[in-house]
Amino acid sequence: MKNLYHSDMYQFNYPVKSYWEDTTKVNLNLEKLTKDINCEIVIIGGGYTGLSCAINLIKNYQLDVILVEAGKLGWGASSRNAGFCSFPPSKLTFDQMVKKYGKKETKNFYFNSIESAKYTRTIISEYNIDCDITGDANLVVAHHPKKFNDLKEQAELYKNEFGLETKIYSKDEFEDIGHGGTEQFGAFSYKPGFALNPIKFLNGMAQFALSQKLKIFQNTFVNKIEKNLKNYILRTKEGSINAKKIVIATNGFYQEGLIPQLNSRVLPVISNIILTRKLTDQELKQHNFKTFNPIVNTKNLLAYYRKLKDNRILFGMRGDLKGSDQSSKEKSKNMEKQFKLIFPKWVNVSIEYSWRGFIALSQKLAPSIGKIDQEEIYFSFGYNGVGVGSAPWSGKQLSKLVFSSNSKVLEISKIYQGLPKKFIFPSLRLLYLKFIILYYALRDKLNM
Ligand SMILES: Cc1cc2nc3c(=O)[nH]c(=O)nc-3n(C[C@H](O)[C@H](O)[C@H](O)COP(=O)(O)OP(=O)(O)OC[C@H]3O[C@@H](n4cnc5c(N)ncnc54)[C@H](O)[C@@H]3O)c2cc1C
Repeated sequence: MKNLYHSDMYQFNYPVKSYWEDTTKVNLNLEKLTKDINCEIVIIGGGYTGLSCAINLIKNYQLDVILVEAGKLGWGASSRNAGFCSFPPSKLTFDQMVKKYGKKETKNFYFNSIESAKYTRTIISEYNIDCDITGDANLVVAHHPKKFNDLKEQAELYKNEFGLETKIYSKDEFEDIGHGGTEQFGAFSYKPGFALNPIKFLNGMAQFALSQKLKIFQNTFVNKIEKNLKNYILRTKEGSINAKKIVIATNGFYQEGLIPQLNSRVLPVISNIILTRKLTDQELKQHNFKTFNPIVNTKNLLAYYRKLKDNRILFGMRGDLKGSDQSSKEKSKNMEKQFKLIFPKWVNVSIEYSWRGFIALSQKLAPSIGKIDQEEIYFSFGYNGVGVGSAPWSGKQLSKLVFSSNSKVLEISKIYQGLPKKFIFPSLRLLYLKFIILYYALRDKLNM
């Protein structure tokens, strides 16, 4: 089956030029696979999910694991994201989730997602990773006065149902500690939350994995999987891997056709980022931009932004529906306009970087962790653009399942567990997405 987007999105041979890639020079000295090898477990995908699953399989169960990555290690979203460690990893509201899954599973889902954000913080210190952490909370900003009440309700919910530390700020109060601009009408904060440099986090995980003797092959694209009586044989251009179990950790970059049972279940969605040059103190003052916490606004088609340590502003939004380099350039120009409408005094500030990647949605609108029936194939994907705080934890959960493949039980909310439904007429996935975007854009226009 063909991939949904333009081939420009799948150029595994070249690292994607981003600010993170440009400013982080670490050589892990990883080879590509050029021979036929055997192992117990092979992991496909070298992002946070794959690395975390591998580390936990080796550290906790001393298993023989190999990880393969199509591009440079971390080539996918894990080295390109905005670095927000937030939760929950779902596009459903709390009420929608309760309606669909009941209150008990929904509350468990939230508790698990809080635990997962804390897990990211824990491994940063456990693996001794220096990844430029900033901030100590997540911020949600009302982009319109009508949205401020919704924020108060969300803050109450987080406090009362989950015991989280939250704080509500009026427009003036937020101007004092957060920022100003044309789309700031109050905000709320919730903990835990912070921001990090995604590629430094990725490299730190990789260095720890290597210290645990994980064998990693980069620039090794798995193009076919065959099965004999006992094992799976993964074919790559210059070699093969004979393994008892397979872990699929490819999230939004899953290649349709690799595993029949996984086809048509992921909806990759492009997310784009633009980054300004360094702002002077004077320029930051023009919009009172003080906070280093990660921020999202209340739009249905939301914007996410934050100030980096060197006083650049990172600004992200949903990307285009084509995926060509040209459509990405146009999208970035359009995002620059939107950014400067929110922060008009920065109209002359230049944009120095723009890049993009896939986040993964599915019909569940929540992550999926599990095992394919009758096979020794395991998966974790669909973090809805909230993978910094979800993917490492999900990789760890998956490792427990891989280890105890017969019991198939994880002590986490059922919402996470199992495959999402296949899309009907899967080749129309981008058309479905187009309709959803139009619907959300209309709601945003009406401030609903
Ligand atoms: C622009 C952008 C901004 C984001 N911002 C945030 C944020 O601020 N906070 C947040 O929580 N989340 C964010 N996300 C989402 C987050 O980055 C992802 O959820 C997370 O990185 C997923 O990790 P992963 O390991 O599951 O997948 P990925 O990191 O995408 O890794 C999957 C890997 O699989 C490899 N692969 C695919 N097919 C094959 C094959 N056949 N053979 C070998 N290898 C293969 C790919 O090359 C890829 O490297 C953002 C994503 C993007 C794109």
